[in-house]
Amino acid sequence: MPVYDYHSDDQSARERMVRYQLEARGIHHPRVLDAMRSVPRHLFVPAERAGDAYSDHALPIGEGQTISQPYMVALMTQLLDPAPSDRVLEVGTGSGYQAAILAELADEVVTVERDPVLSERAQEVLDALGYRNITFVVGDGTEGYLPLGPYDRIIVTAGAPFIPQPLIEQLTPGGKLVIPVGHRYEQVLTVAEKDAEGHLHLSEHGYCVFVPLIGRHGWRSELDGEPEPDDLP
Ligand code: SAH
Repeated sequence: MPVYDYHSDDQSARERMVRYQLEARGIHHPRVLDAMRSVPRHLFVPAERAGDAYSDHALPIGEGQTISQPYMVALMTQLLDPAPSDRVLEVGTGSGYQAAILAELADEVVTVERDPVLSERAQEVLDALGYRNITFVVGDGTEGYLPLGPYDRIIVTAGAPFIPQPLIEQLTPGGKLVIPVGHRYEQVLTVAEKDAEGHLHLSEHGYCVFVPLIGRHGWRSELDGEPEPDDLP
């Protein structure tokens, strides 16, 4: 008999996830914990991995991409701390799971994905779940998404070589940006807060590992070792 008998569609699997993976590691934000308790994560992973959806690790979602570990989703969301009236930009829709968590907490979510297959799939799941406050954009999220900006909160769920300048520009004064910044295979979870005068204040929140952010203001390709020098700030 397995030690953890996780049923894919089981509310109690989510309760255990919240208690042993999140609260035990210092996630304390009540609204974030409520969102993690209510979003059915097993619907965002491939059907054959549904039994593993509430386990303590990232999972492949196809197209070479991953859905982040529950703890990482919760930590980033706690750092982002979206208010109910906020407009949030997410870069890296992936499975759509993080977008669902954000849609529970904020007023409007705009989520950008460069891979149209993933974007379409995420949209189907989120539509079926009844989310009406998410706008899906296919494109290079390192450019942000100017038509619906500026944003009170911006979250990037792929690893960046540096903070893309357009995202800084599309953040409101008083706004917050959460982004993994660093090397190709390891990054530092970074929070950038923009004060009323438009100055950025950075803080670091530990190491993390994300798939690369690929775009004009990110890594140039899946294969490149370094961004082009003229991209560097
Ligand atoms: N937030 C997702 C996990 C995303 S994995 C979830 O909850 O499942 C990172 C995603 O970022 C991948 O789907 C990848 O295709 C996408 N990505 C990488 N570079 C991007 C870019 N420049 N713009 C938009 N999406 C990008």
